[in-house]
Amino acid sequence: MADRRPDRPDRTLRPHGARTRGSVAPAAATPAYAPVDVDVDVDVVVVGAGPAGSAAALALARAGRSVVLVERGPFPGAKNVYGGVVYGRVLDSVIPGWQDEVPVERWVVRRSTMVMTPSQSVSIDYRSEAWGAPPYNGMTTYRSRFDAWLAARAIDAGATLVPSTVATGLLRDTAGRVTGIRTDRPDGDLTARMVVACDGVNSFLAKEAGLLPPADARHHTLGVKEVLALPPEVINERFGVLSDQGVDIEMLGCTRGIPGGGFLYTNAETVSVGVVVSLPELAASKVRPEELVADVKRHPSIAPYLRGASLQEYSAHLIPEGGFDAMGPLATDGMLVAGDAASMTLAAGLWLEGVNFAIGSGLAAGRAAHQALAAGDTSARGLASYRTDLESQFVLADHQRLRRAPGLVLSERVQQRYPGLICDLADGLFTVTNPVPKPGLVRIARRSARRHGVSLADLARDTLRAARVFR
Ligand SMILES: Cc1cc2nc3c(=O)[nH]c(=O)nc-3n(C[C@H](O)[C@H](O)[C@H](O)COP(=O)(O)OP(=O)(O)OC[C@H]3O[C@@H](n4cnc5c(N)ncnc54)[C@H](O)[C@@H]3O)c2cc1C
Repeated sequence: MADRRPDRPDRTLRPHGARTRGSVAPAAATPAYAPVDVDVDVDVVVVGAGPAGSAAALALARAGRSVVLVERGPFPGAKNVYGGVVYGRVLDSVIPGWQDEVPVERWVVRRSTMVMTPSQSVSIDYRSEAWGAPPYNGMTTYRSRFDAWLAARAIDAGATLVPSTVATGLLRDTAGRVTGIRTDRPDGDLTARMVVACDGVNSFLAKEAGLLPPADARHHTLGVKEVLALPPEVINERFGVLSDQGVDIEMLGCTRGIPGGGFLYTNAETVSVGVVVSLPELAASKVRPEELVADVKRHPSIAPYLRGASLQEYSAHLIPEGGFDAMGPLATDGMLVAGDAASMTLAAGLWLEGVNFAIGSGLAAGRAAHQALAAGDTSARGLASYRTDLESQFVLADHQRLRRAPGLVLSERVQQRYPGLICDLADGLFTVTNPVPKPGLVRIARRSARRHGVSLADLARDTLRAARVFR
C-alpha cells in the first residue's frame, strides 16, 4: 500500500499537453489530450515514457503509489527510434495475455544472419514455426504504437502521464538528496519522494546525479534506419512468409570495414533497413551513414527484397553499447536509473536487444522504489535491492556473462577479415571448375585465410575467445 503523506501541499501543475487515462495514441498521429491538473508532489516522478519508464510507472501504480510519468514527446513513442524487433516475454507475468492486445506488425518466424562482402553473402537462416504461435519469440512493432500501448497500461493502473514536458534538471534538498525534477514549463517543478530516470541514452538526469559516467564515444554506436513501403503480399512472397509472419535479417560485413552491422526487418506493410556503426570510427571514415544504408539496399542479396519500395521515413539515434563495463552506479539518494539511461542495451553481436532490457530494468526499478518508500529509506543503501534484483534476472546476468562480446564482435578481424574469408570459403567449396578436380577443404580454407591475412594461429585464438565470450 502507498504510504501517502497527509501533509502533502495542495499544489497542482498544469502540463502543456495534459494527462490521459486509459488510452494513448494508437498510431503516429498526435492524440488530443484534454488538459487536467497534476499533483506536483507525488510519491515518484518517472522521467521518460519509453519502455523503461512506462514499465517503472506500471509497477509503481500497481503497488498503489502516486506516480507521474513525464515525457518530452507529444505522446509516448512519438520520438523514439529503434530497429524493429521486440522480445516481449518479459511481460508474461506483468500483462498476462499481452500477445492478444499488443500492436504487433508481424511475429518473427525467420531469423537470418548474413555475412557478406560487396558481391557475396553466406547466411545461416533459421526458421521456426513455433515462433509464429503463442507464446511467440520476437515481434516487429512500431515504437509509436508499442510505447503508447505500454504507457496506456501504466495509465490504466493509475499513473498520470504528462506529455510535451522536458525534465531539465534535478531538485535536491540541503543534504543533496534528489527530491524531484525541474521541467521546461514556467510553473514546472515537480517534487517527489523519489525520481526514476528513464530518459534514454546520454541521460542528462543520470549524469547530473553522478549515475552515468561522462559520455565516451567508444561506448556508443549510431543506428540509422529507413522505413520503406511495400504491399503486404509482396513482402509475404519475397520473404517466404504468411501474412502475420515476419523476418529478421542481421548482417555483418556491409559497413565498409567500420565496426558495426546491418539489419532488415519486415513489418506488415513496410520493411525497416539500416545499419548500426561505431561512432568514432564512422566519424574518422568521413563516410556519411546514409551511404552505408544505400550500400545495404544495393547489395545483390538485399536489393531483390526491396525492389519498387518507396521511402517513408528516415531516422537516426545513438545506442549505448558499452555494456556491463560502461554502466555506472544504479542508485543514489532518492533516485534510480533504468533502461538506456543506465546503458542497459545488450549489443553482443548475435543480439541487439534494448526494449526487453529497458522493460526488465524499469519493472525492477518500480519494485525497488516501492519497497524503499514502504521501508522509509530511499537512500542509495535503501535502494540496493534494485541491483540485486537485476543480477538475479536476465538484465544484469546477461550483461555480465556477455561483457566481453562487444570487444570480440567489433574487433578488426571479425569486422574486416572474416566476412571475406567465410564468403571465399563458400565460393571455393561450391564453385565447380571442371575439368579441374575439386580442391580439398583444408586447401580451400588455407587459401581463403591467406588471402584475407588471417593465420591459423589467429583463427585458433579467435575460436577460443568466442567460446569463452559466449560460453
Ligand atoms: C537504430 C536502433 C536500432 C535498435 N534496434 C533494437 C531492436 O530491434 N530491438 C530492441 O529491443 N532494441 C533495439 N534498440 C535499442 C532500444 O531502442 C533501446 O534500448 C530502448 O528504446 C531503451 O528504452 P528506454 O525506455 O530506456 O529509452 P528510450 O526508448 O530512449 O525512451 C526514453 C524516453 O524518454 C524521453 N525523454 C528523454 N529525455 C527526456 C527529458 N529530459 N524529459 C522528458 N522525457 C525525456 C524520450 O522522449 C523517450 O520517450 C535499437 C536502438 C537503435 C537506436
